[in-house]
Amino acid sequence: MKAVRFHGKNDLRFEEIPVPQLKKGQVKIRPAWVGICGSDLHEYLGGPSLCPTTPHPITGETVPLTFGHEFSGTIEEVGEGVSDYKPGDRVCVQPIIYDSTCGSCLEGLHNCCWQNGFIGLSGWGGGLAEHIVVPTSTLYRLPDNVPLEIGALVEPLAVGWHAVELSQFKKGESVLVLGGGPIGISVILALKAKGADKIIVSEVSRRRQDFAKKFGAHYVLDPTKDDVVKRCRELCDGLGVHYVYDAAGVQAALDVGIHATRARGAVINIAIWEKTCTITPNDLTFKERRYQGVATYQIGDFQKVIDAISAGDMKPHEMITSRIKLSEVEEKGFKALIHDKDNQVKILVEVGGGS
Ligand SMILES: [Zn+2]
Repeated sequence: MKAVRFHGKNDLRFEEIPVPQLKKGQVKIRPAWVGICGSDLHEYLGGPSLCPTTPHPITGETVPLTFGHEFSGTIEEVGEGVSDYKPGDRVCVQPIIYDSTCGSCLEGLHNCCWQNGFIGLSGWGGGLAEHIVVPTSTLYRLPDNVPLEIGALVEPLAVGWHAVELSQFKKGESVLVLGGGPIGISVILALKAKGADKIIVSEVSRRRQDFAKKFGAHYVLDPTKDDVVKRCRELCDGLGVHYVYDAAGVQAALDVGIHATRARGAVINIAIWEKTCTITPNDLTFKERRYQGVATYQIGDFQKVIDAISAGDMKPHEMITSRIKLSEVEEKGFKALIHDKDNQVKILVEVGGGS
């Protein structure tokens, strides 16, 4: 079968690999639509860092690995012992690989697994191939009114959803989102679904400012022109925002974010930082602010996102800015995200396609 595999830095190959064998408790899926993620790009430009170069403790695999962890598809075949799924079922895949035995897993925090990995980054295949086999525990069924291409957006949307849930945001509270890229937008969509009526976004790129507005930001600030801290206070009764979601991951944005947060508010970090940053603990202490990291999503978040989409509370369709073929992933996918970043939110790769 055809697959897009990551071999190392700047080395992505569209190549022929064997069809994976179906085992007990697994299903074989024909991927339909697959999103390209910032972490895929990060690996391509500077990796392997997330992708293992020594055998991953759970999958036992190393690069080359098939990419694609944001995907939907149709079940083609079910393995021995699988009774709750059948061929033809439309699903999306929650790609976290966890060991079930470490301290985090025993507490139910599989996303914080000590050995965690991802389908599409750490082994077990990926969405950018004509077939994949996965355990049924990864599957989420798509309702009839949720098309397969929207199914491919559930993964990035679950990241924003989880961040908003962990922040303890409540309807009526005010927020600042740092960065208007795909994750910033997924945070905005989650906030809208939860009834936020004061979403402020700070973003440098003009195009991304427009995207943020389109997806529901109430105020969009340009940190190169606006005094973001001052504006957040003005817009929030002189107090600052309740929560800041950092989807930028740069020092200047973090500094602004901390000072834009009101007393007892929180800065939630979603960004994957490429450098070490500086935080002055006194800025947290004297205002009793929290700083919290969030990692992907936990079991249940996918279902909540699917339900919100199905109910019409989340409308992510316009996140899809480009649709390409499996053979075009490097040229029209990765290179477009590098050279035309501001005009793209989510590029979807059509593998099996369909709705
Ligand atoms: Zn674990």
